[in-house]
Amino acid sequence: MKRSRFVLLFGALGLGLLALAFQQGWLGGSGGGRLNVLLISIDSLRRDHLGVYGHRPEYAPGVPVSPNIDALANEGVVFDSAWSSSSWTLPAHSALMTGLSDRSHGVEMDDFRIDPLRETLALKFQQAGYSTGGFFSGPYLDPKYGFGKGFDVYESGMISPEELARAVKRYAGQLEASGQPHGPQVIRSFRDRASHWDRTSERINRKALGFLERQDGGKPFFLFLHYFDVHYDYIPPEGLAKKFDPGYTGKMDGNNWYFRPDVFDRSEGKRKIGERDLGHVRALYDAELNGVDDHIGRIFAALKKKGLWDRTIVMLVADHGDEFFEHGFLGHRSTLFRELTSIPMILRVPGATPPGKRIPELVRIYDAAPTLLDYAGAGPIEDAEGRSLRPLVEGGAWEPRGVISRITHYGFAGSPNIRDAWRNERYTVVRRFLIDGQDDRGRLQVRQAIDGQTRRPFLYVFDRRSDPGEHTALDPADPRFREAMQGFCRDFQAAEAHAAALKHSSLENRYAPDKSQEELTILSQLGYAEDTDLSGRKKLAPLTPFPPPCP
Ligand SMILES: [Zn+2]
Repeated sequence: MKRSRFVLLFGALGLGLLALAFQQGWLGGSGGGRLNVLLISIDSLRRDHLGVYGHRPEYAPGVPVSPNIDALANEGVVFDSAWSSSSWTLPAHSALMTGLSDRSHGVEMDDFRIDPLRETLALKFQQAGYSTGGFFSGPYLDPKYGFGKGFDVYESGMISPEELARAVKRYAGQLEASGQPHGPQVIRSFRDRASHWDRTSERINRKALGFLERQDGGKPFFLFLHYFDVHYDYIPPEGLAKKFDPGYTGKMDGNNWYFRPDVFDRSEGKRKIGERDLGHVRALYDAELNGVDDHIGRIFAALKKKGLWDRTIVMLVADHGDEFFEHGFLGHRSTLFRELTSIPMILRVPGATPPGKRIPELVRIYDAAPTLLDYAGAGPIEDAEGRSLRPLVEGGAWEPRGVISRITHYGFAGSPNIRDAWRNERYTVVRRFLIDGQDDRGRLQVRQAIDGQTRRPFLYVFDRRSDPGEHTALDPADPRFREAMQGFCRDFQAAEAHAAALKHSSLENRYAPDKSQEELTILSQLGYAEDTDLSGRKKLAPLTPFPPPCP
């Protein structure tokens, strides 16, 4: 062999080995050569309000609503059919962190927490030697639900318990002055309301930047950031409302959005808000998103300034969307239609994700954790039901699967709202249930509801190919109806089997502690004893499995 060919051959082999070494983290450098991971969750963010998913603000079409997120998408891959496991924060984030569907993680009511037997995304990174930090800004991300597991630091960016205690005190004083009954239970309902007007992105960023500052490059990091300002109330920072609706002359603002009788009359179940005012509220929602996007841009800028951008995997998702009367309601946690369950998902892995690639296949929120662990080489969550999306990014073999979303909300205003929905690439099925007594193990029994108008089971099938908004239900005699139900049946049985194969703690160990650290602090600030009852009710019993959608 000629010397030059020898050099060429072994030179190429050497380069290949070098690349492999970097990929596997064998070579030194910052974090031992392994990539950092940043996971961003934006609460209540509809997919169809991001620029990268085609959104142009109604009254300011030339103003980009999400320039920083769009720029991330241009560098990474964009999932065009990503879906959540539910339409509210607690179960959706449980799915995000455990890689399990709601049926398997079981955190579907306020009383439950992530089973201590479960592995979580943060735990896997911690075990793999990552420095882990999480900063959250909504009450349902509290550590009492199990979200703190695996984080070296896990902190709230909401107003401090001391400040909240003072606000509760003022509120209780107002109730007393107007002769209305009040007690310590006010703390819990006030906490929820306070999260609606509190503005938290600034505090989340301060904590995140502090965390990044403390990283010395000895270990890779996993950073989780949960932004809440897109969540109602829609009260954007000064000037942003005008930017997205410069011509508005009406009186509607986004304050107290969920509870206003001039928006929705709960006693009649009727929408009261007019079209133009609703358009303005959507512009306020855009403005809130624009503010959050700006804060996210500052995190990206800090990573670039520190030279970490090309060493950091970034994933951006939402837990669920928000509805503006597309199906007769507002807010979220009421139905499971697409405005609530379709979510954005964007992934950028330095050197691995083809810039700007769009991925049309259906993916689930609980695929996120397996994907990040796969790309970071941090070892899988053993029990995970979700799958790494890497084959989709790299064009490998992929077996399509559907997604089941669920909501089990009962006790609110005395009317249970228990539903599930299934989707594949083409169809949507939605079912509604009622509670019908208890079984002999004390579990509340679920049975299918009957639609008041049609007198048929509350079960609707939509063909999103001809009806993307999910408004026109197929006739049960339509062959597409049967095709959809067969797909649902198959995925339902798989989800049940996955849940049944998991080891679960005893019921007592799956209930969340009665009070969070924050609530204990507020109680003591207000002079109440630690064991004061804040819920005013017994813990809810779990539900029996939903009836199978199978013939
Ligand atoms: Zn949420």
